[in-house]
Amino acid sequence: MCYADTLTGAGGGSGAETRIRNKDEISSTENSTSSEFGEFGLKKFTMREFVPFHLPMHVCNIFLFLLPGHVLGIYGFYLIFTGQTPYPWWNLLFSLIYGYAGGIGVTAGTHRLWTHRSYKANTPLQVLLMLMQTSSLQYPVIKWCRDHRIHHKYTDTNADPHNAARGFWFSHMGWLLEPEHPDVAKKEKTIPMQDLENNPVLEFQVRYYLPLAILTAFVIPISITMILFPQPFFNIFCGNYTRWIMMLHTSACVNSVAHFFGSRPYDKDSSAVDNKILAIFTVGEAWHNFHHCFPTDYKTSELPFYSFNLSTAFIDFFAWVGWATDLKTVSKEAIQRRMERTGDGSGLHHHHHYAIEESESELSSDENLDEDVFNNNNGEAMSKMVDEHGDQEGNIIKNIVSINKGLVLPTRG
Ligand SMILES: [Zn+2]
Ligand SMILES: [Zn+2]
Repeated sequence: MCYADTLTGAGGGSGAETRIRNKDEISSTENSTSSEFGEFGLKKFTMREFVPFHLPMHVCNIFLFLLPGHVLGIYGFYLIFTGQTPYPWWNLLFSLIYGYAGGIGVTAGTHRLWTHRSYKANTPLQVLLMLMQTSSLQYPVIKWCRDHRIHHKYTDTNADPHNAARGFWFSHMGWLLEPEHPDVAKKEKTIPMQDLENNPVLEFQVRYYLPLAILTAFVIPISITMILFPQPFFNIFCGNYTRWIMMLHTSACVNSVAHFFGSRPYDKDSSAVDNKILAIFTVGEAWHNFHHCFPTDYKTSELPFYSFNLSTAFIDFFAWVGWATDLKTVSKEAIQRRMERTGDGSGLHHHHHYAIEESESELSSDENLDEDVFNNNNGEAMSKMVDEHGDQEGNIIKNIVSINKGLVLPTRG
């Protein structure tokens, strides 16, 4: 079983055959491994290859995506609120359902599966998540994960692509409108990405990103709308952008709102916060103080009953089906200790209550978590370090904590 398989749970007969067939092809390029990736011998993915007309990424963002997207999307809102479309509220409901399918592709797929490897998914689930994520038009998975792994490792520094220390607007959308800070590219080299670069599903997405994006973000939702809510094509086209900007800003709020407004129950020195209201809209990604402390927890939260955490319900469903395995969570004890040690105190009076409601079977041991983080094939712990301290009996306890603890700049605040 190849490296990508062990990491992602991908695999299967036809995939394995394809890999063997391509072994000969890549052996000839083995000496230039730094510029090649993947078992298919593709060139290492660069944004330049993905960007239309080889424009700088931020120019492309502004003029091809964000500006036309907002103009047309806001016009779509206008049509809905002035009742100029048939069944406007049903149409909006469909937009939200399709939009959240893309959102879960981002949260359960790009974020929890591929960036943080908080669970494993078989190939069909990976393909489903990849297609859902493509419909959100938030870059190919590999680029998204690279930005997010850097964000976790260098939170609130110039190497953080959406550095919240540069203000609310920069972390929300400003970072997409200007060239990347040179520190991002510099620190990129310290981020292990081989697990994603060797993943055939993600490789496929990069290679066919444009047709996949046209299919999932335009053809499918527009066709469904044409059938369900017939109206002039231009109106449907604008309404499709309405869905996109709603979801884009919701996602962006995790980088902006969830680094500014809320409580810090787990780490009072982190800029990341827990924000209950935002959690409703982000299908579970706004328990962000927790997430920055325990990035490999597949629930990104310790709260029971899927508290506004549809992404966790999605993963649990596929775990029940058998497509998702090795779901990682942090033990209640480790969370409690972390809260007492570094939290702002806001979570402590709730915590006992939560701990009782949580079923024992959902918890995995600390040992499993440690093993996976520290014995990964990248040879280095991804954005994690061991925080050792003793319990009452004098035993050493290992907690997984975010490395950003030591890297937060004093500029915030
Ligand atoms: Zn964050
Ligand atoms: Zn994360």
